[in-house]
Amino acid sequence: MSSGLLSGFSAGLRTLTVAFVLRLCLALLLPPAAASQEPSIPGFPEIPIDASEDQVRQRVALVRAGEKLTPKAWPNGARVAVCLSFDVDNEILWRRTPLPVPLSQGQYGATTGLPRILELLDRQSVPASFYIPAMSAALDPQMIQEILRGKRHEIGVHGWMHENLPLVGDAAKEEKLLTQSIEYLTKATGKRPVGFRAPSWAFSESTLAQIQKAGFLYDSSFMAMDEPYELLSNGQDTRMIELPINWIADDYPYYEPQAAGSLPDPQLVLDVYKGEFDVAYQERTMFILTMHPHITGHRSRIAGLEKLIVYMKSKPGVWFATLDQVAEYVKAQEGQGKR
Ligand SMILES: [Zn+2]
Repeated sequence: MSSGLLSGFSAGLRTLTVAFVLRLCLALLLPPAAASQEPSIPGFPEIPIDASEDQVRQRVALVRAGEKLTPKAWPNGARVAVCLSFDVDNEILWRRTPLPVPLSQGQYGATTGLPRILELLDRQSVPASFYIPAMSAALDPQMIQEILRGKRHEIGVHGWMHENLPLVGDAAKEEKLLTQSIEYLTKATGKRPVGFRAPSWAFSESTLAQIQKAGFLYDSSFMAMDEPYELLSNGQDTRMIELPINWIADDYPYYEPQAAGSLPDPQLVLDVYKGEFDVAYQERTMFILTMHPHITGHRSRIAGLEKLIVYMKSKPGVWFATLDQVAEYVKAQEGQGKR
């Protein structure tokens, strides 16, 4: 190991240690209840400590993982499916606190982040899936045109106004927003979206039934596996394909302001993503990365993402695909009993 690498490593370690100590201090300052408990969300009361096993089973049954759906082989004998995905939230992410400066941080996604990402995807000739709240698309309608210009990307639903679905608190209102979002994107792209990613990855009691009814091919909001799986609702197969995400392969926890700079070095973030990809490659499953144009679209981070893409492309048998291509393939294999 070179001394440059060593000093980079120790600087990273120092940063991590400082962040850890800061978090520890915070945890000690807060009473234990505040440090460990989140307030319960309307419609989702706490599971009591003396609940019976049956009661607990009922309470976890709304959405659970069914069978694994990874096919025996990916197209052309590929070992792994790689999906780059971007949630194009931009200013709408600050809907509840629309102060001018944070809004500008979001607008960066439309002015600079997205164009830079699209340039990178073109340069590397790889596809990606973009999930766009309808109102973000309405504020900067050129974004959809820019994404479609590449002719290899997918656009999926990500709410009307990045609404947190359990907090909407009204099934009819939630369904209306979903319908509006589908209609908006269908009109703007000329194609009905087949993929759904819940804003903030939050499902209400009604969300799964509503996206089933709306005819989505797949969802990408859950975390019960590292590979495609079927979604069960109250023990019944919904025929909805889940293409799962997770917080480790997401830019938000590393870079967003509240992360307090705990992993500020794109090289360290890149190492985490590479570690996730390497095991997906060994296990012959799937690697989905979730990013945001206003976060990953910054200069140093795009350089890190490009390094990751180049690394993944250097391995034989990597299938770069959009999530809808993966879902279509999984569905076709399932139909032929090949899984
Ligand atoms: Zn989002």
